[in-house]
Amino acid sequence: MAETRSVCCYCGVGCGVLIAHDGTRITGVRGDPAHPANYGRLCTKGATLHLTAQAGGRCLYPELREDKAGERRRVSWDAALETAADRFAAVIREHGPEAVGIYLSGQLSTEDYYVFNKLMKGLIGSNNVDTNSRLCMSSAVAGYKATLGADAPPACYEDIDQAGTIFIAGANTAWAHPVLYRRIEAARQANPQLKVVVVDPRRTDTAREADLHLAILPGTDVALFHAMLHVLIAERRIDADYIAAHTEGWPAVRDLVEAYAPERAAQICGVPAEAIVRAARLFATGPTLSLYCQGLNQSSHGVDKNAALINLHLATGQIGRPGCGPFSLTGQSNAMGGREVGGLANLLPAHRDLNNPTHRAEVARLWGVEAVPAKPGRPAVAMFEAARRGEIKALWVVCTNPAHSLPNQTLVREALARVDFLIVQEAFADTETAAYADLLLPAASWGEKDGSMTNSERRISRLRAAVPPPGEARADWAIAVDFARRLEDRLGRDRTLFPYETAEEVWNEHRESTRGRDLDITGLSYARLDTQGPQQWPCPEGAAAGRARLYADGVFPTVSGRARFHCAGWQPVAEPADAEYPLSLTTGRLRDQWHTMSRTGLVPRLWGHVEEVMLLMHPEDMAARQLRDGELVRVRSRRGQLLVRVKAEADQRTGQVFLPMHWGGRFMAGLGTNVLTVAACDAVSGQPELKHAAVEVEAA
Ligand code: SF4
Repeated sequence: MAETRSVCCYCGVGCGVLIAHDGTRITGVRGDPAHPANYGRLCTKGATLHLTAQAGGRCLYPELREDKAGERRRVSWDAALETAADRFAAVIREHGPEAVGIYLSGQLSTEDYYVFNKLMKGLIGSNNVDTNSRLCMSSAVAGYKATLGADAPPACYEDIDQAGTIFIAGANTAWAHPVLYRRIEAARQANPQLKVVVVDPRRTDTAREADLHLAILPGTDVALFHAMLHVLIAERRIDADYIAAHTEGWPAVRDLVEAYAPERAAQICGVPAEAIVRAARLFATGPTLSLYCQGLNQSSHGVDKNAALINLHLATGQIGRPGCGPFSLTGQSNAMGGREVGGLANLLPAHRDLNNPTHRAEVARLWGVEAVPAKPGRPAVAMFEAARRGEIKALWVVCTNPAHSLPNQTLVREALARVDFLIVQEAFADTETAAYADLLLPAASWGEKDGSMTNSERRISRLRAAVPPPGEARADWAIAVDFARRLEDRLGRDRTLFPYETAEEVWNEHRESTRGRDLDITGLSYARLDTQGPQQWPCPEGAAAGRARLYADGVFPTVSGRARFHCAGWQPVAEPADAEYPLSLTTGRLRDQWHTMSRTGLVPRLWGHVEEVMLLMHPEDMAARQLRDGELVRVRSRRGQLLVRVKAEADQRTGQVFLPMHWGGRFMAGLGTNVLTVAACDAVSGQPELKHAAVEVEAA
């Protein structure tokens, strides 16, 4: 029996794992004691990864159907990719490069992402490549860029151990990032003075353990953060020297928050004014580390929420020092790596911007192509809306399950059914999206392929293959390369853009693209990662190690070198509750399930925590509707409805109900939680408001 060092494939904590195997079969997993993200710890999901590898249900062979009415049948890889290249080339010739789309996943490796991004932007000639990270982190990206000038989380996990206050906003860390939460618990044990403040509409496990829980009404975070800044100014707890030396835009924000007295914000947010004042004082006492996730991001004003929180850090000078900083927790295992290679419709490799002509020219030069198209591609929601209108005719979905995870499911499924040619590249055969595939391509999965991933603290770890993939499954990047070479033939190009034979060759090209950029990793190599272990970026050529914290010198990657205060007032949710739909639905994760359960749903042990999807509802709201605990209810929104049992939950606020995001068609009747959710997106980031919709509940 051997052990192979790799990384957990679920969340952005990025825990190191040791995979036990006999060379053909994965038999066990344990936490890697040497990995600085987890030092040997794993949560229940990570600790059962080997069971997902043994569970079956895999895509084993390419399958193709001749027409929409027919059945898919097994074909050779050659036939599959020849057909795919023919169909994509035909659409490009007849309708232009913007009539095709690629939809990726934050679960892919950096190398996978790099090849797909280059395929679309370097060969096909459009920017229609986006990812489920759009549903997850794009508001965090835009929030960082708007304020600090770059998409770079400035803090690191060690800051948890050194913080005086941990300010958790819109994150149920105990369930969504469990190993990180263990670290918070350990830090509290070591330092009884450490305070934890939690901002969350729900009294989650994380909120229960907090010193102060602000159960704000959904979508009111900006009003809360502005009120806290109002208090800090009134009580002279801001760092005027830091503001003067290292920021710009302060007068406008100072004037803006004048209107957010705690008493007014208390009315908007639904929490006592005294609690807002207390939160502000704890924030100022610090050093304060803010940890935040989907509660801020999955919002039609997600960028404003992110930036309003960063304003607090800039106003108090709490950034670039041990124990403090605004630290977005990455949802997926490699949402960071996808951003690094520019695998979104508005980004280019190495944090370059699509709307910057110099950046486009740099990337064209790096890739050896004439030009990179300037027109932004369609972000996730818009991509599927375009497919539904018939504007995207060939679509390739890789390692993600949009027939479950995108908002307003009825329309998404119409899009998947309408598109002329749909490729689904998947490890698991029974996802809701796979059912729509004209061509199903079997992909290698965790423990079966080489590559790298970057976790929340900018730390790059190596993924390693412990066993060969089952059947004829192949690494995602290798499938993309094989397809790209065939498409080069059909588009009359030489086979020059995709010369890679190994994941390392892909990574080396990515590494070169980072030279001189904020995430410069020219000092790293696969060999160095193998011998010295996971490293944080930046780590330029000649550096002895990666950088733990950013902006220690107070210099920011903006034109002026100063961080920018973001000036935007509070706006309500996209769809407030009203007389017809009087309840606010919030959604979130469970501790032991992951995304659409294509992997965790296969492991019986992971059903022990929550056996069945339940709508959580306050007993008073149930009494008003004469509902009994455990009764089957109908949840309706303007977009659809679903049947589910209701569970009395006194920790819910009245007027609010909660559904986990995980269950869908295979595990419950109907389309799942996202049949209810709204596709309203943040105007800057394009991230949809998956966290809130107006609903009504009645007996089924
Ligand atoms: Fe995997 Fe996240 Fe759990 Fe770590 S905390 S074992 S990365 S799911």
